[in-house]
Amino acid sequence: MERTLSIIKPDGVKKNIIGEVVSRFEKAGLKVVASKMKHLSQREAEGFYAVHKERPFFGSLIEFMISGPVVLMILEGEGAILKNRELMGATNPADADEGTIRKDFADSIESNIVHGSDAPETADFETKYFFSALETY
Ligand code: ADP
Ligand code: MG
Repeated sequence: MERTLSIIKPDGVKKNIIGEVVSRFEKAGLKVVASKMKHLSQREAEGFYAVHKERPFFGSLIEFMISGPVVLMILEGEGAILKNRELMGATNPADADEGTIRKDFADSIESNIVHGSDAPETADFETKYFFSALETY
């Protein structure tokens, strides 16, 4: 069993598709083992995306991520990291496969509805960044 961090970004919350996104995870066999809604502070968002801080889009990404509340979740399942990435689709919705969350709902490469950890190391860092052991089930 593997665990990964999922975030429904501010655009997903604003579009009122929390249930739709979670339903896709559940139908694919991923289980929500931790969940909370949170309006990230600038410091929290910058710490989460620290790996991107030299990128030209960093400032804009942080502004977007703190523009409204997000839904933070830990998903558990066999191959959860890759399975979640497949359900999400490519970063740029224009490149995303049919039937993926980003293809169906995302407006741009920045406002792309969901985050998902990309490897075991990032999944470990990211799940612990937002959840204590006592908050997971
Ligand atoms: P992913 O979320 O698919 O793992 P990255 O880790 O490369 O993608 O980037 C993190 C987030 O930064 C993306 O989900 C997106 O919101 C934003 N982003 C990535 N590339 C760009 C870009 N070229 N312009 C604007 N925002 C971007
Ligand atoms: Mg990434």
